Amino acid sequence: MFDSHCHLADEAFEADREAVVARAREAGLLGALCIVDAGEPRELQVARELSAAWPAVRFALGIHPHHAAAYDSRVGEVGTIVGRALEALPRAAAVGEIGLDYHYDFSPKPAQQAVLRAQVTLALDRRLPIVVHARQSESDVLDIVDEVGRGAVGGVFHCYTGGVDLARRVVDAGFHLGFGGIVTFPRAHDVRDVARQVPLDRVLIETDCPYLAPVPHRGKRNEPAWVTFVAETLATLHGVSVEELIEVTSRNFKRLFGPVGA
Ligand SMILES: [Zn+2]
Ligand SMILES: [Zn+2]
Repeated sequence: MFDSHCHLADEAFEADREAVVARAREAGLLGALCIVDAGEPRELQVARELSAAWPAVRFALGIHPHHAAAYDSRVGEVGTIVGRALEALPRAAAVGEIGLDYHYDFSPKPAQQAVLRAQVTLALDRRLPIVVHARQSESDVLDIVDEVGRGAVGGVFHCYTGGVDLARRVVDAGFHLGFGGIVTFPRAHDVRDVARQVPLDRVLIETDCPYLAPVPHRGKRNEPAWVTFVAETLATLHGVSVEELIEVTSRNFKRLFGPVGA
């Protein structure tokens, strides 16, 4: 089992990162994809330490759409900044998380789009998958990936919250969909409806920790070990055993982010 999206280098884990990793391994996790902010030297340093403590961890490096405004006047440097971050970390396996967030709109849309374009170009050059953060923007992300990535860039739309029709477009474009704690929330009928309809060979499980802790830990700081609750919910939705759900999603993880030894 793998947590395909976690922020283990976040300061929320500063006091007890080793214990969090130990609990993840005890829960049966063979690895995880840790998302790192390519523009934050401190996070990069923590990621390097994490990589030594848990060699099975893979990394995604990128500039989040929330931070796009800070790069608006120097979009030309984005490829270099993220490229250097990729080179600075062993086992960098993806560009991410990158995308567009029209829900929070923390950065102006044109800035978000320019920063996304630069990073899809980088992913194409490096032949790396992308980890997409899209909120109320899936269609625009697909257009940019199509235009810049020329059909050669794949990856995952993490924490997917869009509709069924868009999910079909995402899958048709060759992408996977990541589902996390939200599928366990009592009122998240729409997300469960979509999750049920996505072919299992395109599903990934994730925590997005420290955020979005699943039921029964909702509201607490989330951690990779709790991806098991997501796996259980998705198994029920798809009418398969938890073992099968874990087997298929682990295969998907390894296909996207490379072979992983425990
Ligand atoms: Zn995200
Ligand atoms: Zn995230």
